[in-house]
Amino acid sequence: MIINKEILVDVTREFINTPSPVAYYEEVMPLLEKKAKEYGYDVWYDRKRTGYITMEGEDASKTVMVGAHLDTLGLIIRSINSDGTLAVRQLGGVSYTSIEGETVHVHTRDGKTHTGLMICTSHSVHVYDDARSLVRDENSMVIKLDAFVNCEQDVIEMGIDHGDIISIDPRFEYTETGFIKARFIDDKAAVGCVFAMLDYFKENNLKPKYTTYLAFPMYEEIGHGGAYIPKEVEEYIALDIGLIGPDYHGAEDKVSICAKDAYSPYDRGLTHRIIEQAKKVEANYCVDVFYRYGTDANAAIRAGNNVYAAAFGMGCLSSHGRERCHVNSLVETTKLLIAYLLDM
Ligand SMILES: [Zn+2]
Repeated sequence: MIINKEILVDVTREFINTPSPVAYYEEVMPLLEKKAKEYGYDVWYDRKRTGYITMEGEDASKTVMVGAHLDTLGLIIRSINSDGTLAVRQLGGVSYTSIEGETVHVHTRDGKTHTGLMICTSHSVHVYDDARSLVRDENSMVIKLDAFVNCEQDVIEMGIDHGDIISIDPRFEYTETGFIKARFIDDKAAVGCVFAMLDYFKENNLKPKYTTYLAFPMYEEIGHGGAYIPKEVEEYIALDIGLIGPDYHGAEDKVSICAKDAYSPYDRGLTHRIIEQAKKVEANYCVDVFYRYGTDANAAIRAGNNVYAAAFGMGCLSSHGRERCHVNSLVETTKLLIAYLLDM
């Protein structure tokens, strides 16, 4: 099975470089539509702004779904301080230490973007005794806009308001040794895998076994991306990051199959099948139990959907910070995705 690494990296890069914090779909969905068109597919939506691609299968009696969430961690303006800095609330599990000193982008409701710098209120070791020790959190981190603003009114006059969404610079890098370093490998590398799968099916003139929906939700990072799924879906596979750490077999060149996350074990029958498929395609895989972690497949279960749930994805180091994985973990994830869709 030859997977196109160039497509994996290029699509991952393109999606990572397009901002899409939780709920901010305006820029990323047109990109999804453009990429889907390249493979002859239209994108349709539900009222949670989840985008879907339908792949016709050999057998229309059953519908399965594979999800790769398009939302990322982000921030939202909570208030404008009297000195013109912006106070924020997080969208998803932001690690504030990892975004100190990062460029951020404020997306206003009139479609404009303003840049700023994420700083700590004790921002300089030359000035503050607690610059190194102050805990970085929602109360100690603010945004300094890249503009001469000195009061709330100055900021309001820029068209910035409470509730504006803020994206964080992803700083995508692809090394000569095959590592991807960027924010939001979670979960845009999975989107790369979906497109590498579409490419493989096209090149080899293949169809999935069953009618397949490819889902691209916008609310995974806050836990309800999969709360609604179309009624006809019998199986939901969440493609999402694999964890790396002391308890795990996961690694940056493997696909991790998730047996259980913070909420629930995944369906045993479906997970057995996926493990057997991983063996058949000789994927470099492992099975792990994830700790502080959830996926849209289990969000679907939690919301009461009548569906079998499973999850697998690329091993990702330093998750929710600036992350890293090797392109080979995307290759292994794509191989397993293809094996699942062909029902090998
Ligand atoms: Zn994720």
